[in-house]
Amino acid sequence: MTNIYDLGIQGSVLTPSSSTYNDAIARHSLTSVLHPSYVIYPITIPDIQVAIQFALSNDPPLEIAVKGGGCHTSTASSSEGGLVIDLSRFNKVVLSADRASVVVQGGALWGDVYSTLAEHNLVAVGASVWFVGVGGYLTGGGYSSLSGKYGMAIDNLLQATVVLADGRNVQCGGDEEPDLFWAIRGGTNQFGVVAEFVLKTHPYRPALVGALVYPGTDLPKILDLTREYLKTQLENSNLSIMFTRSAPHFQPGIVALPYIENDDGEAEKRVAPFRTTITPVFERIGTAPNYNVFAHGADATLADIPPRSVAGGALFSEAWDDVISTAFREWVTFTEKEEHKRSMMMWEFNPRNKIAEVAEKDTAFPTRNPHYHVVITASHSLPESDAPAREWVSKMATYIKSMNTERTGVKFVTPTNFSLGSDYDSVEEVFGKNLSRLRKVKAIYDPKKVWRKGWAIEPDPQ
Ligand SMILES: Cc1cc2nc3c(=O)[nH]c(=O)nc-3n(C[C@H](O)[C@H](O)[C@H](O)COP(=O)(O)OP(=O)(O)OC[C@H]3O[C@@H](n4cnc5c(N)ncnc54)[C@H](O)[C@@H]3O)c2cc1C
Repeated sequence: MTNIYDLGIQGSVLTPSSSTYNDAIARHSLTSVLHPSYVIYPITIPDIQVAIQFALSNDPPLEIAVKGGGCHTSTASSSEGGLVIDLSRFNKVVLSADRASVVVQGGALWGDVYSTLAEHNLVAVGASVWFVGVGGYLTGGGYSSLSGKYGMAIDNLLQATVVLADGRNVQCGGDEEPDLFWAIRGGTNQFGVVAEFVLKTHPYRPALVGALVYPGTDLPKILDLTREYLKTQLENSNLSIMFTRSAPHFQPGIVALPYIENDDGEAEKRVAPFRTTITPVFERIGTAPNYNVFAHGADATLADIPPRSVAGGALFSEAWDDVISTAFREWVTFTEKEEHKRSMMMWEFNPRNKIAEVAEKDTAFPTRNPHYHVVITASHSLPESDAPAREWVSKMATYIKSMNTERTGVKFVTPTNFSLGSDYDSVEEVFGKNLSRLRKVKAIYDPKKVWRKGWAIEPDPQ
């Protein structure tokens, strides 16, 4: 067998005997940590190609996992005994000469993108938290606080460079490789390593952002206000309603998190009812001078979250009082246990029309029917708490999805970005009606199923 150190990889190669191996296998959540035989940090596209060739030349071939920001709480970016291509050093961000687009390497974090663009008063459609990886987020679709104005993050992807299972390095987008370009916009890691994304840039407009904190007993009033707010919600805004227990008392609380581009003081007017009709026990409101500042807004809250977390979620059509109130009671009960007290639910209310303008068949992301989404994150310290945490997240997601189907007849998929993982949500559940085309495209670009971490798509050579 070839010695991996003889392959001329310009980045680094780590094995379990390397002194930094434990850092290399770390992830956002300890639930995602596995023990690969090799961790490769490519710094060039040939490094990625060589890593793939090496893994496949083993007998039997090594499983290959690709890590972007390491934020998914499943083990999709890790491998037990295989080879991990860790893109974290492949993270350059380069603005185009005309500033209309930005080239982002596959291992960049959203903070890398925002900080580069902030210097030019620009923004790209991405995650609300800076340390989320561009790679996993985008190949999973990508909801953003800017989605009301610009749609999903994938709707702002102009082009991509993908290293395929056979080692070829191809560009897709525009007229090039239309099937591949379709598939990577929602089809996750199943088609290759996305080495570069070319994203549309947009002018950044200073936004009112904030956190308004209320006791849990105010939920009915907050939901009334939210429904009223949504009736005339501006496209350039987002409202998140979070269930959380904050220090020092850890009582059930609700935090309203507005993001509203502030034109002519309009944002203050929109937020006013949340400050006057009900009075927050604490509020922090200001203008984010750029999107990077906004994306660091949760740093203090996230700093002391326990090391293990599992995240799931659901899509829903309306801010139903009874459904959200039932979810709240369930969350209160679950978080009464000390071990689970930092678990959260985040209800995201983005204006829905822009996302719905794209047809469901136009990208692999299968849900364009107008919807909101909720992210359910259970956080804890002990490995034995993983199973009850997953069960609780799954139970809550199933409840919200089933109430939605009962009330509207619409059965939403579970987007991969908000899925507990392939053990919980099948390929049918995450890819929905786009699965059959995904299987055909898989047969073209990865007929031997080299990419089988996460939601492994069965090739259909028809
Ligand atoms: C704090 C936090 C905030 C979040 N906010 C949002 C949000 O606002 N909107 C939203 O939609 N989601 C959000 N998410 C969910 C997030 O988008 C997913 O967890 C996503 O998978 C993270 O991508 P990653 O690259 O960090 O993850 P990783 O765990 O590294 O990767 C996840 C999957 O993507 C694959 N992958 C990563 N990079 C590449 C690449 N370059 N080429 C091919 N495959 C790749 C991996 O192989 C793996 O299958 C959030 C998650 C967290 C933890």
